[in-house]
Amino acid sequence: MRSPFRSIRQALLAVAIVSIATIASVLLRDALAPTNLAMIYLGGVVAVAMRCSRWISVTTSFLSVAAFDFFCVPPYLTFAVSDYQYVFTFAGMLVVALVISTQTARLRDLAAHAAVREARTEALYRLSSKLAGETRVFEAARSAAALAEEVFGARVVIFLPEDGRLSFRRRTSDLLPVPPSEESVAQWVFDRGHKAGLRTDVHPDATALYIPLRGARETFGVLAVLPDVESDVKNRIFAPEQQQLLEVFAGQTALAIERTMSQRSAEETRVHMQTEQMRSSLLSAMSHDLRTPLASITGAASTLRSQGDRLPPETKRELLESISDEAERLSRLVGNLLDMTRFESGGVELRRDLYPLEEIVGTVLQRMEPQLEGRAVSTDLAENLAMVFVDDVLLGQVLWNLLENAAKYTPPASPLEIAAFEEDNAVIIEVRDHGPGIPPGEEELIFEKFYRGKSKNGRGAGLGLPICRAIVQAHRGTIRVLAREGGGTIFRISLPFSSKTASHETSHSHH
Ligand code: ADP
Repeated sequence: MRSPFRSIRQALLAVAIVSIATIASVLLRDALAPTNLAMIYLGGVVAVAMRCSRWISVTTSFLSVAAFDFFCVPPYLTFAVSDYQYVFTFAGMLVVALVISTQTARLRDLAAHAAVREARTEALYRLSSKLAGETRVFEAARSAAALAEEVFGARVVIFLPEDGRLSFRRRTSDLLPVPPSEESVAQWVFDRGHKAGLRTDVHPDATALYIPLRGARETFGVLAVLPDVESDVKNRIFAPEQQQLLEVFAGQTALAIERTMSQRSAEETRVHMQTEQMRSSLLSAMSHDLRTPLASITGAASTLRSQGDRLPPETKRELLESISDEAERLSRLVGNLLDMTRFESGGVELRRDLYPLEEIVGTVLQRMEPQLEGRAVSTDLAENLAMVFVDDVLLGQVLWNLLENAAKYTPPASPLEIAAFEEDNAVIIEVRDHGPGIPPGEEELIFEKFYRGKSKNGRGAGLGLPICRAIVQAHRGTIRVLAREGGGTIFRISLPFSSKTASHETSHSHH
C-alpha cells in the first residue's frame, strides 16, 4: 500500500497547503490578530490530515507552528518572539494540531478498515447467495470463479479433480491461462491442502497463485489466481487482507461445493429409498392382489378337473363364474400396472378429439353396469355443455376408476352422481358419492402410487387414483378430492378449454 511515490505526493501536498495557509495569513495579518491567524494553519492541518499519512500530518503540525512563528508573529521573518505570551499560543496550537492529525488519521484508518470489512462481507455474501441455488458442482465452481474475477480484479480459474487427481481439463474457463506444466503445482496444492505458486515459498516462479478449495472433510479443487499485468492490480491481490479474503473465499466455495455434493447424494438416497419403498409396496400389493385371484382360479379349476363330472351344474357354473371374475380382476390389475409404467415413462400419446361428454359418460356407465348393480346413478350434465377435447378412452378410464372406487368404498345401496358443468373456462366433471369420505389429511396421499386407505376393504393396488391424475394432467387438467357436506366424497376433474374447444370448432368427426 505504501509506495514511495505516494509519500512524495503527500509531502508535496502538505507543503503546498502550508504555503497557501502562509500566503493567506500574510495577506490577512494586518486585519487579524496572530492568534486568529493560527486558525488558518489549523485548517491547513485538518486538510492535510484528511488526505495524508499520519507522520506527514504530524510533520505538518510542526511545520505550521514554525511558519506561524516566522511569518505571523512579530517580529516577522524571524523565529524570535517579542511577546512571550506567544509561547502559549505555540504550545496550544501544536497540541491541537497534533491531536487533529493523529485522530483524523485514526478515523481514516477505521473508515478504511470498515470499508474493507464491508467489501469483504459483501463479496462473501454474494458468493453464498450465488452458490446457494447451485445443485451441480461444476456450475458452483463456475459461479465462484466468475465472482472471484469480479471481486479481486484478476483472472481466476478453478480446477476440479477427475478420478481423484486434479486435472487441468476440468476447469472453469475455456482457455487454459496457465502453462500445462504447472499442473504438478496445482496437484501439489490439491494433495497438501496448502497454497503455492506465485509469491509463496513453494514454486514462487509459477505464473499463478494456487489456493486449495478445502472443505470440512476434503479438498474439492484448486483455485488459480493470475494477477493482471498492471502492477497496481497485482499489488492489490497480494496485500495481506486481500490474501486473507481470497482464502476465506476459497473456503466458502469449498463448503458450497461440499453442500452441493451432500445434497446430491441425499437426493440420490431419497430417490433410491423411494424406489425401494415402491418396489416393496408393489411386491406386497402384488403378492396379495395377484395371489388371491390366482388361488381362487387354480382352486376352482382343479376342483372342476378332478370332480367336474360329479358336481351339480349349479356349482359348476359358480366355479366357472369365479374363474372368469378373478381372471378379469387380474387382467385389470395388470392393465393398471402397465398403464402406470407407461405414464411414468412418459410414453402415452393422447388421441384427442372433440367428443360430447355424455357420450363418454354413457359408454362408461354401460360397461360398468354389472359393478353398479342395485345402485342409483344419476347424471346431471349441464345443457349446452361444450364438447370436450380429450382422449375418449383415457377419460373413460378415469371415470371408470372413480366409479369403481365409489362402488368399492361406499355402502352397496348408496346412490352415486355424475355431474358436469362449465366454470372459469373449464369443463368440470364431478363424481360424487355418499360413502365414508376421505379422512382429512389424506386428500393428496390417495393420489400417490400404492397408497391405500386404512379401510382396505375391496381389493386394489393403490394405483387407480394415480392413474386418474396422470391421465387428467396429460390433458393439462387437474383432479382433486373435496369433502361433501353431510358425508361422502366428490372427485372433481377440471379440464381447461384448449383453444380448440373454446372456439367450438366443429369436430373432425370421430363418428
Ligand atoms: P385402491 O382403490 O386400489 O386402493 P386408489 O388409488 O384407487 O387405490 O385409491 C386410494 C385410496 O383412496 C383407497 O384405498 C381408498 O382408501 C381411498 N378412496 C378412493 N376412492 C374413495 C371413495 N370414493 N370413498 C372413500 N375412499 C376412497
